[in-house]
Amino acid sequence: MPPEIVIASSNKAKIAEIVEIFSELDVTLLTKSDLSVWPDDMEESGVTYLDNALIKARAVCRVTGKPALADDSGIEVDALDGAPGVHSARFAGANATEEENNQKLEGLLSSTPKEKRGARYRCVAVVVFPEGDEIAAHGTCEGTIAESPKGEGGFGYDPWFIPFGGSRRMAELSTEEKHAISHRGKALRALAEKLDQRLKA
Ligand code: IMP
Repeated sequence: MPPEIVIASSNKAKIAEIVEIFSELDVTLLTKSDLSVWPDDMEESGVTYLDNALIKARAVCRVTGKPALADDSGIEVDALDGAPGVHSARFAGANATEEENNQKLEGLLSSTPKEKRGARYRCVAVVVFPEGDEIAAHGTCEGTIAESPKGEGGFGYDPWFIPFGGSRRMAELSTEEKHAISHRGKALRALAEKLDQRLKA
């Protein structure tokens, strides 16, 4: 029977992406709804993406007794010395909406010229095993922050982010185009390769 791995996330878009990228591997992916137990508290209190991904994966591995996969991600803006980074989801406050986060970004960069609007998305993805070992992989997507938003796709900062090598915002790309170049796509593909090696060892 293929080994089971629990996806330690409730985000439907993330789960769909993980399922798609891991479809080549001989593993059975489980989500919260497949399990009778789930950790109560998974506060992302770490200071790095790796810390936060491990907090989620370790908690789910501990209560389910199964290998658990988690990721953590954010956007880093050069003109803001790398902010919001690990705080991307709560840039404009603890319960901020994506729109409020984007408004804050727009305001802070209002007098920043085009050539100083460099930024990158970053993602770290991990699998934690009940035996105690852990594997991790990361991915980045370099680009710039646009001077106006555009596009309906993706989520979060995507209407403002123009990946290098193109002129369209991330939110203007199809799901397939985004996954091919995104930080999360890269991190998950690298993680899938490491997982494959671990399962064959
Ligand atoms: P988390 O990895 O779910 O904790 O997400 C962190 C935050 O980073 C999200 O809420 C978004 O604000 C931002 N973020 C991460 N990845 C993306 C992306 O692919 N597009 C847009 N925003 C993203």
